Amino acid sequence: MYFNPMLRDIASYEAGKPIELVVREYGIKREDIVKLASNENPYGTSPKVLQSIHLEDMSLYPDDSYYELKDGLAAHYGVDSQNIIIGSGSDQIIEFCIHALHKEGFKILHAGITFAMYGIYAKLYGAKVLKTPDNAHNLAQFLESYQTHKPDIIFLCVPNNPLGECLESKQIEDFLAHISPDTLVVIDGAYQEYAAYKDSARGIAPAHFIDKYPNVIYLGTFSKVYGLGGMRVGYGIAQKDIITALHKVRAPFNITTLSLQAAISALKDQEFIRSCIQKNFEQMTRYEEFATTNGIGFIPSYTNFITYHSEQIQSTKLCQWLLERGVIVRDLASYSLNALRITIGTQEQNTRVFALIQEYFSNN
Ligand SMILES: *Cc1c(COP(=O)(O)O)cnc(C)c1O
Repeated sequence: MYFNPMLRDIASYEAGKPIELVVREYGIKREDIVKLASNENPYGTSPKVLQSIHLEDMSLYPDDSYYELKDGLAAHYGVDSQNIIIGSGSDQIIEFCIHALHKEGFKILHAGITFAMYGIYAKLYGAKVLKTPDNAHNLAQFLESYQTHKPDIIFLCVPNNPLGECLESKQIEDFLAHISPDTLVVIDGAYQEYAAYKDSARGIAPAHFIDKYPNVIYLGTFSKVYGLGGMRVGYGIAQKDIITALHKVRAPFNITTLSLQAAISALKDQEFIRSCIQKNFEQMTRYEEFATTNGIGFIPSYTNFITYHSEQIQSTKLCQWLLERGVIVRDLASYSLNALRITIGTQEQNTRVFALIQEYFSNN
């Protein structure tokens, strides 16, 4: 069979291992498995959200305008609902951006190590993928590469998955001043709620950016702190021209009726979001202390995960060892890094992670 030749150099996205697979492969009981591999909210979905969704007659397509969710987001961010597009996860908005801007000789630019989907979608459209020499975001390098190669899209992951570092809002503004309006700058804010809480200088105000820059799109998601990874809802915020173009590549009814209900009520329960973020950083301190005590290196993180690295650790071996004991974390070997990314879990889950890593050290 003939397949699109672009597929040849695309490696499929390596999703976090599902709990069911560990149950089947290692015979571990479902309730004994701790999944800290995909940065989902370990405190689950807000009970208020669960109460608000109803599975009733689902024969009709959803209201494709998604007006109630857009109105909620518009009020939350202080923008107009015409500045918003809804996607099946913000992943889908990444694809919309690439699809809508794609042309002959298309190029994208991103950090040395960042969210894999930028490159995967870009290659699907035959784009050239440029990366900065540094793994983390280094805006001087972005600028240099921009001036040399004039990429069509620049992806800034703020904070960056999988490393956890985070640019400041002011640094991004200074950078944008040098970028021509022909280049789209995507600010991926999948973990912005965490970053803004930890350090307000790292909080991005989408309203401010889209007001000033016609070539910026901000992406947000309900999959992380909002506790709705299973519902697949994300959004993009930009000036109307960009949103209009993206809507042309969006298939209708791209999220479900149930997802829509859940996202609308999740947005209203900001109390839940605040408490999850607070607990996240209390637990993050334990990860930092554990690392320091055990001679493990880590990158200070503005997210709900932490990246551990150490010469003494062989990340693939440690991840496998943890997996066999029911703890799923993310090996970063696929990024050619000897490091692992651990989602910050609940107090109890983290205690188990620490005990297991210590046991690994004493046996290896
Ligand atoms: C999780 C994540 C997303 C989007 O996830 P969706 O579930 O598709 O909304 C986007 N960017 C980054 C950096 C992420 O970590």
